[in-house]
Amino acid sequence: MHASPIGTLVNTHANGDHCYGNELVTDAEIVASAAAAHEMAEVPPAMLAALNADQGEVGRLFRRFFGAFDFTGITPTPPTRTFQGRLDLDVGGRGVELIEVGPAHTRGDVLALLPRERVVFTGDILFIGGTPIAWAGPLANWIAACDLILGMDVDVVVPGHGPLTDKAGVVTVRDELAFVEREATVRHAAGLSAWEAAQEIYRLAPTDLGERGRVAVNVETVYRTLDASFHGADVIELFRRMAELED
Ligand SMILES: [Zn+2]
Repeated sequence: MHASPIGTLVNTHANGDHCYGNELVTDAEIVASAAAAHEMAEVPPAMLAALNADQGEVGRLFRRFFGAFDFTGITPTPPTRTFQGRLDLDVGGRGVELIEVGPAHTRGDVLALLPRERVVFTGDILFIGGTPIAWAGPLANWIAACDLILGMDVDVVVPGHGPLTDKAGVVTVRDELAFVEREATVRHAAGLSAWEAAQEIYRLAPTDLGERGRVAVNVETVYRTLDASFHGADVIELFRRMAELED
């Protein structure tokens, strides 16, 4: 059974690589969590286009991460249907269960489970071969989302980035998040700054995951979770730190 043309589109979260193509599916119902829809409106493509075009240090920094992408000429196309918690869809006769697990990677992360097909689409709750990046957190939510997937009756796990995987891939992401949470918590208690802690944890990390500089963001998120009054770095500073760690 299939549905053609595309009648339903799910944005798993608000990052541009997962929602800036919405305008290409104009007649579809576009579904996202309410939190993701809200976050999309805050980071329109024009903002990234401007950062990529910046002539100063910030532009050089952003082009290092996003220089391969053209953010110009994109018409922001928001979701047409939002939900909180859970939503069951019928897509061309196929049952799809949407499960909100954020805030974790972003504020409104959603999993899409096809129980009969034993497949789950995880969005960026799974980066396979790369380091997870917790912009929102808390990491405990993300670890809980991994545990939820591990408890599902599925054979195929479709990550947001990297190749198709199975439950072993979920365990790798879970272990990495638990490792950073544990090590950052120890260093927070010892009085290290988030940046000092990130540099130590980066050197400590025994993994072969790519984009390992993202540890800088994850440590920042652990600190924010531990201390609501924590005054963290802004996004540009976080990109600076990621670049510095990976240099
Ligand atoms: Zn992504």
